[in-house]
Amino acid sequence: MSVLKVVTIGDPILREKAITVKNFNDNLSRLIDNMAETMVEYEGVGLAAPQIGIPKRVVVIDVGDGLIELVNPELVETKGEQFGQEGCLSVPGEYADVRRAQYAKVKAQDRSGKEVVVEGENLMARALLHEIDHLNGILFIDKIEG
Ligand code: ZN
Repeated sequence: MSVLKVVTIGDPILREKAITVKNFNDNLSRLIDNMAETMVEYEGVGLAAPQIGIPKRVVVIDVGDGLIELVNPELVETKGEQFGQEGCLSVPGEYADVRRAQYAKVKAQDRSGKEVVVEGENLMARALLHEIDHLNGILFIDKIEG
């Protein structure tokens, strides 16, 4: 495994819509492993592939309850609302309050292509929504109010 370089704001890849993964092969497994290692190294709670310069719909999250790997994640349900501080490895040093759903349910695939459903509240919901935004070229700074 290897730690990859996280691209920061100003890099156009952060504004692109990422591409759906169709091949569930060794390359995908390697990408996910490297993303997980990179997330740990940078002390993040989530990382999306575009953040390491790969325009694919792949996300890793660990809010302290273990590693979650999501390929082609799709938001299927949200509930409630939370307002709290957020940051991003691609926007170093900036933190701001962002409004998000309090609960989120996501359908995705694992590294072998099997369907998985992940749901979470509070920080987990925030991480899911933040990382899926990355796959659509959206950054948390776009959501700062006022
Ligand atoms: Zn981010």
